[in-house]
Parts: sequence; structure tokens; C-alpha cells
Amino acid sequence: MIYDEDTAQQIRMCAACPKMCRHVCPTFLAWRSESPTPHGRALLLHQEIIGTRQLDDRAIDVLYQCLECSHCLTWCLPEIDIADIVETRRRQLVEEGRFPSGLNNMVDSIRTHHNPYKEPHEKRTSWLKIPKNDGRSLIYFTGCTAAYRENSIAQDAVSVLSSLGYQVGIPKDEWCCGSPLLRTGFVEDALEQARYNVEILNSMDAEEIVVTCPGCYRVLTQDYPKYGLEINKPVRHIAELLQSHLKSLPEFEIDGPVTFHDSCHLGRHSGVYEQPREVIERVSKGALVEMERNRDNAMCCGNGAGLRTLFPEHAKKIGAERVRQAERTGAKYLVTSCPFCKNMLESQAKDRLIVLDLPELVEMAKKRSHVKTD
Ligand code: SF4
Ligand code: SF4
Repeated sequence: MIYDEDTAQQIRMCAACPKMCRHVCPTFLAWRSESPTPHGRALLLHQEIIGTRQLDDRAIDVLYQCLECSHCLTWCLPEIDIADIVETRRRQLVEEGRFPSGLNNMVDSIRTHHNPYKEPHEKRTSWLKIPKNDGRSLIYFTGCTAAYRENSIAQDAVSVLSSLGYQVGIPKDEWCCGSPLLRTGFVEDALEQARYNVEILNSMDAEEIVVTCPGCYRVLTQDYPKYGLEINKPVRHIAELLQSHLKSLPEFEIDGPVTFHDSCHLGRHSGVYEQPREVIERVSKGALVEMERNRDNAMCCGNGAGLRTLFPEHAKKIGAERVRQAERTGAKYLVTSCPFCKNMLESQAKDRLIVLDLPELVEMAKKRSHVKTD
């Protein structure tokens, strides 16, 4: 059995639960079915443990329909971590060679190009313009989505960091952090990316590392150490860094209310809730309005843990619902602090909301306030 006694007991308890958390599970909303819910997943695993059911292709799909958003955990009185339980079984399924074939392209792309988008590795950050600065040295670990899909986040992050006096360094040859691989069970492949990144980052001379992607943040600060890989510099998410410079940030008269979407990796998985909000409040002069579901009760955007790769239409349904929740606040701007969330939310908002990532909002404030930030 792949689970220890304690975890098997938790799975049994969840399989017998009256589904206290089902109402917040985004995949229950997307499928309208009992299987892709925390309880449904636990029931499959419990049946497998007691030997009354083998995991067939349909059951494996149900395990891969979990976003690993951990929203269920916040509602679970016995604190059963279904995301972790699912990820453990995914690792085993990969070892058994029984994972959904829809993951092959993503995995092959990271093995070959070091990004999940099949983009040429040499174009990863070659386009980024880095201003010269003599201030404190900092490494910006760009991450695949900002490097290939959300370029303005990376460029604005560099611009804002430079305005704050940092001398920004970009790793010459950064690879995918490994998050998409880890979350879908491909640990050995993830560790190959991870070992390489740690070597590169540790060899660079800088005081700290900053990331704009919460997936990278969680992997660099929590998963790498779990596998004995230590980065020799502090790692901060840009929301934390910007919050530490709050009084130096520009302010401007924004032309409408701003609401904030918490990414699961930054929020529930890392506990960073207030820092991005303080930055938004500062630069927009108090224009923040909260969605009904916020902080540890925030709904996932639908992009996580391979869902968009395997089940894009269901992932988009979840993203569209999150956009509707944002619209109900009357906000004009939907700000997040995650390139991957921004990508999903913008695709679903179309032109109904202006979707920005945090560095883009700060850069906008910088340009419109005409105030120097150093
Ligand atoms: S995760 Fe917790 S609350 Fe949700 S169904 Fe399982 S035991 Fe019940
Ligand atoms: S981690 Fe998220 S998607 Fe997975 S069962 Fe829990 S609430 Fe549902």
C-alpha cells in the first residue's frame, strides 16, 4: 500500500464523510458530478485500499481532475489534505506508467525545451530589457508563463524592481521550476529541472531571488527543500518584496475599483494574503474591493495541477465562474499575483474586466503618477 496507516485512516474517514466541503470544490462545479469531489476521490482510493476496486482509466481521470487547490482543506474539520493525498497517488501512477496520455506533450516539452509550451529554450529571456542599476543585487527567476505567455509581467517586474533601486540579474540559462511536473506526479523529471536550477541560482552572486509566479515560489521554497535541494539565498514573491517598499511605491488616481484574486499557490499553500492587498491599496489609493470569496476562501482560477492541459473546457468553466465573482464586486480591474491565473482570467474576462498582474498595476501607477520611486 502506498499510504501509511494514518493516511489510509484519513481516506476512510473522508470516504464516509457527509461531504462537508463539496460546495467549494471547483471541479464539482465544473462537472456537476459526485466523482470529481474530495469525497468522491477519497471513496475511489478507499475502495482501492480495501481491495474492492482497481483504479481503471475513468478513476485515474477523476484523480487527475483535482486542481490541488486545497480549498476543501479549509472547510474540513478533521483537516484531511485531499490535494496531498491525490498528488501521492499520482506519483505512484506515473511510476506504474498509468497516467493520462494527455500529459505526454507537456512532459516531453519540459524534458526537451525546459518549458511546457514547446517554445525554444534560447528565447526564454533573451527579449527582456534589463536597465542598469548599481543598487542591491537581486535575481529575477522569470518562470515559464511570464517568459513565454505573459511577457509584460516579466518586463514590468524588471522595470519596477529597477525603479526601486535593485540591480536585476536574470539567470542566463534558467529551466522550468518543475511545478507542472511535481503536481502531476513526475517527480524524477521535476528533480532534474530542480537540481539544474539550484546549481545555477547558487552560483550567481546576489542578495536574494524574486519570483512573480506563485507556482515557482512554492516549488523553490517548499518542494526543493523537501527533496534536500537548498537554495543559498532567500526567495521572495514579488508581492512580499513590493510590500516591504510600500512607502516608496507610486500612487495614482485609478479610474475604477480593483478586486484581487488570490492564487492558490501564494494564498492557501504559502499564506501570503495581505502583502498584495497592501500594495494594491497603496498604488490605487484605496480602490480595493473584495470578492465574496477571498483569502483562504478564494476560488481557484481553474488552471492548476494539469487541469487545463487535460480538461481545458472544464478548466475554462471554472475560470469563467471566478470572473463572474469578480464582476459582482463592480470592479473595473481584476488584479492577481500569478501569471498563470492572469492568463486564465483574462481569457475568460474578454473585455468585461481589465485583468492585470501586480507588477503591471505598479508599473501603471509609476507611469501615471509621474513620481520617481527611488
Ligand atoms: S475533505 Fe474533509 S470535509 Fe471534505 S469530504 Fe473529505 S472529510 Fe469531508
Ligand atoms: S483540492 Fe480543490 S479540486 Fe481537489 S478536491 Fe479539494 S477543492 Fe476539489
